[in-house]
Amino acid sequence: MKLENKIALITGASRGIGRGIAEVFSEEGADVAVNYLASAQAAEEVAAYVRSQGRRAITVKADVARRNEVEAMMDRVWTELGPIDILVNNAGIETIIPFLEITDEQWTRLVDTNLRGPWLCSQVYCRRAVAERRKGVILHIGSVQAAKVLPGRTHYAPTKLGLEALTRNMSVEMMPYGIRVNCLHPGLIETDMTAWVMKNPEILPTVLAQISMGRAGNIREMGRAALFFCCDDSSYITGQSLHAEGGWIGK
Ligand code: NAP
Repeated sequence: MKLENKIALITGASRGIGRGIAEVFSEEGADVAVNYLASAQAAEEVAAYVRSQGRRAITVKADVARRNEVEAMMDRVWTELGPIDILVNNAGIETIIPFLEITDEQWTRLVDTNLRGPWLCSQVYCRRAVAERRKGVILHIGSVQAAKVLPGRTHYAPTKLGLEALTRNMSVEMMPYGIRVNCLHPGLIETDMTAWVMKNPEILPTVLAQISMGRAGNIREMGRAALFFCCDDSSYITGQSLHAEGGWIGK
């Protein structure tokens, strides 16, 4: 097992990619704190899966964009599970709005969640990790849209490309404290976020034709890719961003 007795906090783990990461991490021996914002029941189901693997789990409600909630989340996990070894900044939202129409409020909400959230969770985590233990691993979940233009994402894409710069810069500042920082960019993954594509027979074939593998990825595949960055297999890797997109950018 690659994460035996590690403690992981995964943001946005009630559904989708975060759920896949929680499942794989628990199968590899990690205790998991399942963060969510609204889906309490779904978060409990993920926690139940973690426990079914013989690991400990708690669910923690917190908006990743609000400092007081993130600080309370970090305190609770540290107290109830123990010092956090792995932080996965996965929580995110996507909306599709033409550039000329997006409002200040829409921009702020999305950027706060997708970019400020990972920055904030990382800072709160690192302050504590630096003071108490001088080791740790952080993985940001970006998007293929850091490298590929899709329509109506002039607000979303910059947050994901921004995570690359956050990753690189944090990795340099945090390595002296033993904290590695990397970023995983998923392609088209079957989750609630992409249901509007996956369930639309008029759009789906066109999208899949652009992907070399001719299919969407699944949450377990993202869980295994995340595992690589969060276990010792990647012990000499920090500051890097990897696309897991089935061959979409290059086609
Ligand atoms: P999803 O199925 O819509 O799930 C989103 C998760 O994030 C949920 O657990 C949700 O919690 C949580 N969340 C949203 N806003 C939050 C906030 N402010 N604070 C805390 N939690 C919050 O999304 P997904 O497809 O799994 O996407 C996960 C990540 O991968 C996102 O960062 C997304 O941008 C990225 N991504 C996804 C794809 C894809 O094809 N699916 C591709 C590239 C990148 P609740 O359930 O409580 O609402």
